Amino acid sequence: VLAAPAMNPRMWLNPATQRNVAQLRQDGIRFVGPNSGEMAERDEAGPGRLADVPEIIAAAKSILADRPSSASVTHLPSAKPLAGRHVLVTGGPTHEPIDPVRYIANRSSGKQGHAIAAAAARLGARVTLVTGPVALPDPVGVTTVHVETAADMLKAVEQGLPADVAVFAAAVADWRVTEAAPEKIKKGKGKGAPRLELAENPDILATIARSKKQRPPLVIGFAAETEKVKANALRKRDAKGADWIVANDVSPGSGVFGGDRNSVMLITEAGAEDWPSLSKDDVAGRLMQRAAEHLRRGSAAAE
Ligand code: C5P
Repeated sequence: VLAAPAMNPRMWLNPATQRNVAQLRQDGIRFVGPNSGEMAERDEAGPGRLADVPEIIAAAKSILADRPSSASVTHLPSAKPLAGRHVLVTGGPTHEPIDPVRYIANRSSGKQGHAIAAAAARLGARVTLVTGPVALPDPVGVTTVHVETAADMLKAVEQGLPADVAVFAAAVADWRVTEAAPEKIKKGKGKGAPRLELAENPDILATIARSKKQRPPLVIGFAAETEKVKANALRKRDAKGADWIVANDVSPGSGVFGGDRNSVMLITEAGAEDWPSLSKDDVAGRLMQRAAEHLRRGSAAAE
């Protein structure tokens, strides 16, 4: 069964709705949307908009493709190792406005973050994806929150907590323009280039990993490096307070930016593991399987 809810952000984010949705997901019902965007309540921002028809069709096709023949349909609990869990993912770039038409950003297609969100949903999790501007459809079965700036991304992440796993795959811009111009900055003869005063953006991963209040039990960061990948990633794990770091080599020629493959190393408390070159979907699937095992071991130890 596929559900495509059409609501408004207040209805969708209402705890009673979310409880019921979590129950339905556990019962095997898949969701497409709701998305952010234009709704009947025009001044409300957030998820609530009915998914677009092509997205609903893609979701239905993906479910039919996943389904084994009807004779062997069984609902083994092990097939959904993230059932009952909430996974929060950041992805894509952030855009920091210089004026209404220009911005500062990092290079990021958003493919890896979207793939992680989709993989977590396939494994049965309730998933919130907070994404910067990307040219990708919202992943199936995921509550997707669209943001522009790092400040908005941090706010959306804080609103999305608590979570069992948080994965920070966004390429957040390190700086923002202290005061964006309200009108387009005009070029003029002899005027020269404008001087931009920059301020440092909040580190979303470090803020959540070091938070006393709602730190998720498993915090995963990414480290895109062009040199000394392992050393830099090990340092980043400590500096940011993450549990795991997925380190990838994004040096020119690696083909990672915008491409479909990723060559990563996973840094955990136990050290560094080299993974073979995999598609971004396979990196996502493997990472979420590992996260599920980690949570299972954690709950077993607590019993
Ligand atoms: O410091 P660097 O940008 O290399 O760190 C990468 C990791 O930190 C990624 O997981 C990225 O999503 C996260 N990050 C963040 N907020 C920032 C900068 C990076 O969450 N302002």
